[in-house]
Amino acid sequence: MSKQRRPWYLNRAFLTIIRMPDYNESGIFTGVLGMNIDLSWLRLHPKDVEVFHLEKQYEDVEIAKDVHLLDQVAVDLEVANTGRLMVGKGEIRANLELQCDRCLKPYRHQIKLPFNVEFCPEENRSYFKDDETFVYFSEPQVDIEPVVIENIVLSLPLRSLCSPDCKGLCYICGQELNLAECNCQEKEIDPRWEALKKILNGEGG
Ligand SMILES: [Zn+2]
Ligand SMILES: [Zn+2]
Repeated sequence: MSKQRRPWYLNRAFLTIIRMPDYNESGIFTGVLGMNIDLSWLRLHPKDVEVFHLEKQYEDVEIAKDVHLLDQVAVDLEVANTGRLMVGKGEIRANLELQCDRCLKPYRHQIKLPFNVEFCPEENRSYFKDDETFVYFSEPQVDIEPVVIENIVLSLPLRSLCSPDCKGLCYICGQELNLAECNCQEKEIDPRWEALKKILNGEGG
């Protein structure tokens, strides 16, 4: 095994397990329940690190158009206190239901996504430019759900396909071409080819 140099902030890592309650029955994403991590210990320990593991159950929550979050979302996050900031890097694992752009059917899509997030205590805001994308916080509990959702949505491909070779729907009759072919293509022959066909069949001239 190769010897790996561990960054300073990993040397005294310890594990905090936070289990979030299930998503409520309303089925509408509000972010109210949140995915909270408690940064109060880490704030008092510069140059230290805390590891968070969060799991949250979602019951079909639409987080963007035709993007549904299903089942469990798991987040591993390692946050280092670098002084003025808390710098986090982690991984999001989630099950999504997307809609295929070609055949319009819903399909399952699993993601495993690295992500980064920086937390800035409110009193340190003046040290940084306004356009920084930090998560500012003043309470010990910080909700990372908006960051997690945003990272999931931004990671999605511009074109959602249930499979790379999905044949989609016939643009004339709407037949799903993965299941069966239709006859529309034959009827739609370019008139120039029609003339050529006649010549080849000996009908021309
Ligand atoms: Zn498809
Ligand atoms: Zn057709």
